[in-house]
Amino acid sequence: MFYQQPFDVIVVGGGHAGTEAALAAARMGANTLLLTHNIETIGQMSCNPAIGGIGKGHLVKEIDALGGAMALAIDQGGIQFRTLNSSKGPAVRATRAQADRTLYRQAIRKIVENQPNLTLFQQSCDDVIIENNRIAGVVTQMGLKFKAKSVVLTVGTFLGGTIHIGLENYRGGRAGDPPSIALAERLRALPFRVDRLKTGTPARLDARTLDYSVMQPQPGDAPTPVFSFMGSREMHPQQISCYITHTNERTHDIIRSGLDRSPMYTGVIEGIGPRYCPSIEDKINRFADKSSHQIFVEPEGLNSIEVYPNGISTSLPFDVQVDLVRSIRGFENAHIVRPGYAIEYDFFDPRDLKQTLETKFIEGLYFAGQINGTTGYEEAGAQGLIAGANAALRVQQKDPFLLRRDQAYMGVLIDDLATMGTKEPYRMFTSRAEYRLLLREDNADIRLTAVGREIGLVDDDRWAAFNAKLEAVEREQQRLRSHWVHPDHVAVPELNPMLKNPVNREHTLEELIRRPEMTYSALMAIDSLGPGLTDPIAAEQVEIQIKYAGYITRQLEEIAKTQRHENTLLPMDFNYSQISGLSNEVVAKLSEARPETVGKAARISGITPAAISLLLVYLKKHG
Ligand code: FAD
Repeated sequence: MFYQQPFDVIVVGGGHAGTEAALAAARMGANTLLLTHNIETIGQMSCNPAIGGIGKGHLVKEIDALGGAMALAIDQGGIQFRTLNSSKGPAVRATRAQADRTLYRQAIRKIVENQPNLTLFQQSCDDVIIENNRIAGVVTQMGLKFKAKSVVLTVGTFLGGTIHIGLENYRGGRAGDPPSIALAERLRALPFRVDRLKTGTPARLDARTLDYSVMQPQPGDAPTPVFSFMGSREMHPQQISCYITHTNERTHDIIRSGLDRSPMYTGVIEGIGPRYCPSIEDKINRFADKSSHQIFVEPEGLNSIEVYPNGISTSLPFDVQVDLVRSIRGFENAHIVRPGYAIEYDFFDPRDLKQTLETKFIEGLYFAGQINGTTGYEEAGAQGLIAGANAALRVQQKDPFLLRRDQAYMGVLIDDLATMGTKEPYRMFTSRAEYRLLLREDNADIRLTAVGREIGLVDDDRWAAFNAKLEAVEREQQRLRSHWVHPDHVAVPELNPMLKNPVNREHTLEELIRRPEMTYSALMAIDSLGPGLTDPIAAEQVEIQIKYAGYITRQLEEIAKTQRHENTLLPMDFNYSQISGLSNEVVAKLSEARPETVGKAARISGITPAAISLLLVYLKKHG
């Protein structure tokens, strides 16, 4: 039976990719269905209750700049906010917030339920309807059919999911949720390359059984950072501290004694796990010389007794988990509320996707999130937004929405996945971006809000607030450029003690801010020069643009230079072995990846700049 009228877009899965995909499509006017296992788990955090961090915070700000939900939800659900790398340059500064799991989920649910053009339906999707290599709809567990022109699959760790605790294992999508078996089998029959990955999570502890007096408290920053460009401190709930403790030699001995019953070390788990979020058994193995590892003791919520011990993810047998937890300072009497576990699941090789996240083999079918081999809520949300927007644009017969690597971390993420694929769960780092100085958290709105507005992702309120900020920044920059301070200026007696070299000729305020020892806020605190901008976000923008202008210009010039070759096309049937000087390995890699452009060829791992030069010389000669 077909239920409802045909939809424009169906999104399967209400996790982090699914909610951003459904919201994006609906914001753009597409009649959208969000079909998910369980409406109660929309926006659920499967693992650590936190949003952001280095590279990930950048993605959250970009999602926000394009009108997405994640940043606003964490502003309403965050119970401890910090700016990481605050003493370093603006490119690597990143916001991170501890979440109250329930408040975060409620905030996402509210945004989803208030989104026009978005319908919800609770059922498992067991099948996809494909007609002439084109998607036509989906079928649910009870045989209901929904029609749509575009379908976005965002089913996370659920495809063929197997949960491991020691040598015990059972099928599951994550603890407490069923796996997607029928859909996994259906997708495996399609011509996509598929493999298995693994991820894990620590045991959750009962806060009432922990001794916080021997742990080191870690309060949030003051003033409290805000995530969304539309957010405010007033949205935040009560703020509380996290704590820090450590593993010790005894913990490591207990772990080693349990390795003969570890699913990872006995070969029961075959999927590769996240290198940068390793299990504790992996850590003591890889860093055998370290006698201790840090554990962040993170509350799961304001009204929850559960605690997430960040740093001891494990799939060891439960008895070993109990002993290892109780060997840690402050955890001597800990009660485990939920055991730690690992999960193995199917993922699809993202090289079988276009940059829009549409699959290359089935027209109108999009994949986003963990299904593409990534890990993390932020990576999932970013892909969801791009896939949802493109699914809607396809229905509206408009040009695709693509972001370049020099424009957004989202562009880096999708280009990395579609060009290079991944062999292990992929997470974002600032080091993955070539142009980090341009891709800062603070300017995500300047980079993206206007492009989002153009395709209908950004609503009137956000657009008005963005324009007001831009105007304020522009006006202030003009004032700083045209306001002169001469040696007899009334401000000089207050100003000189702050400067390495006193004012001995006329300077603009802009020149003074450019000095390393001077800040915008210090200058504005001087009566005759201030008060300047009262909005700290706009003020930060003014300062960064002035202080880093030289570096930013250099990076823009570099982009212009590489851009010349970026779009140079490579024929799909190009015979790389005819280029003399290329190593066999490079020829094999290029022949396998078949990059569409020289820019993409340059980003394949192992393809050196020297190889690209040879390729360019060849193309010039024979082109
Ligand atoms: P999910 O959040 O998994 O959402 C998938 C959604 O799809 C769910 O709502 C599900 O119910 C629904 N669904 C699935 N199949 C169907 C179907 N057939 N029909 C209808 N609905 C369906 N990330 C980190 O960054 N660091 C970590 O250390 C980490 N550890 C993890 C440990 C575990 C045990 C798990 C489970 C996840 C972990 N993650 C970790 C990953 C993080 O949870 C995911 O990256 C993120 O949730 C992916 O978002 P998603 O939207 O792709 O999928």
